Amino acid sequence: MVSSIESSVGTERRVVTELPGPKSQALHARRRASVSHGLTQGFPVYIERADGAILQDVDGNRLLDLGSGIAVTSVGHAVPALVDAVSEAVANFTHTCFMVTPYEGYVRVCEELAALTPGDFDKTSALFNSGSEAVENAVKIARLATGRSAIVVFDHAYHGRTNLTMALTAKNMPYKDRFGPFAPEIYRVPMSYPFRDGLSGADAAAQAIRIIETQVGAENVAALIIEPIQGEGGFIVPAEGFLPALSAWTTQKGVVFIADEIQSGFGRTGDWFAVNHEGVIPDLVTTAKGLAGGMPLAGVTGRADLMNAVHEGGLGGTYGGNPVATAAALATIATLREQNLVARARELGATMLAALRSLQQDVAIIGDVRGRGAMVAIELIEPGTMNPNASAAKAIVSYCNQQGVVALSAGTYGNVIRLLPPLVITDEQLADGLAVLSAAVRSAS
Ligand SMILES: *Cc1c(COP(=O)(O)O)cnc(C)c1O
Repeated sequence: MVSSIESSVGTERRVVTELPGPKSQALHARRRASVSHGLTQGFPVYIERADGAILQDVDGNRLLDLGSGIAVTSVGHAVPALVDAVSEAVANFTHTCFMVTPYEGYVRVCEELAALTPGDFDKTSALFNSGSEAVENAVKIARLATGRSAIVVFDHAYHGRTNLTMALTAKNMPYKDRFGPFAPEIYRVPMSYPFRDGLSGADAAAQAIRIIETQVGAENVAALIIEPIQGEGGFIVPAEGFLPALSAWTTQKGVVFIADEIQSGFGRTGDWFAVNHEGVIPDLVTTAKGLAGGMPLAGVTGRADLMNAVHEGGLGGTYGGNPVATAAALATIATLREQNLVARARELGATMLAALRSLQQDVAIIGDVRGRGAMVAIELIEPGTMNPNASAAKAIVSYCNQQGVVALSAGTYGNVIRLLPPLVITDEQLADGLAVLSAAVRSAS
């Protein structure tokens, strides 16, 4: 067992240079010369090490992380249990290819996934490297198991950037623009979006179902794929009753219900999975992001009759379920349990929602405050209208960055600020982050 190195990162935000600092600027110049300009540039401070909710950059600045690398490092950065598990695994062996000669870690992760995902029927899993790959495989499995081809997705959905998942993703710019042609047999229907559609969950579901039945035909639909709380689309929480109504319809029509829990899963929303909140039991669940604390790992988990319908060799890949990544996942799941981080997500959510709702009373640009657990967002509008205010979102992110706080935007209209802090963030750190965010919102108002 490799013992963890004592951290020197500390627990407080500390800005000691302009941001980005001189060393980051020099690295950024090298990046511009060597890295494709097609990657988003975000906040170009170059990170050297991290601990808990603090990122330390190459210039010695300590940044407070309210994004967890997009909902990945839920258990915190450089958490000792994960460092130890990964170090031990990497020293034992780095790769065999599970399809060639297997190992226990893969099996144990699949056992955990079966135990943690909703539903008490027999479940099996397959592991992959990225969320997109998991979603693609869920589609493959659903098509094979049903013998149907149509896939239903929703407005504002994000399911990835590969060719098939680009087609499933809603937003053109930057994800799809000029990257077509896209995969066929994908049908998009309206998402329940209480702030903008004003519909009850039941009415929004009836609307979606009416469109599917009239324009696609239930008997042609292999699967309906939905994020129970949309991530990139702007943390859209569907109205109560929407997910259960869709789930009931899929069961009745023999359609596979796929919950894409890649962003919302693994404790983030204060339940193991976001569908748990309304007791929805998907046929298949896709996971990634928070599953393995930053090591690349993704899964498709679900009803054994669907998962096992695939012929031998029909699923797989060279690296999927890599031994180092599966060790990280097991340490992540153990840490979530031991530190009670799923319950902690609920506490963090209550604190964030209360602070943001109180801020909403004072400013005219916050149209909506929403979220569940530690997945919380504000949607910005032009005062007195419903018009999206993307320039305010940009200004707020930039203000936060200048103060050493990593905050992320989201949304089809680019007008949402989303908070995804590591679940190990302390009360003091969260209060500090919320104070900076509040000042940023006031300054943008
Ligand atoms: C991030 C994300 C994906 C894609 O995952 P990658 O690992 O980036 O391929 C798919 N679905 C949802 C809901 C996501 O948030």
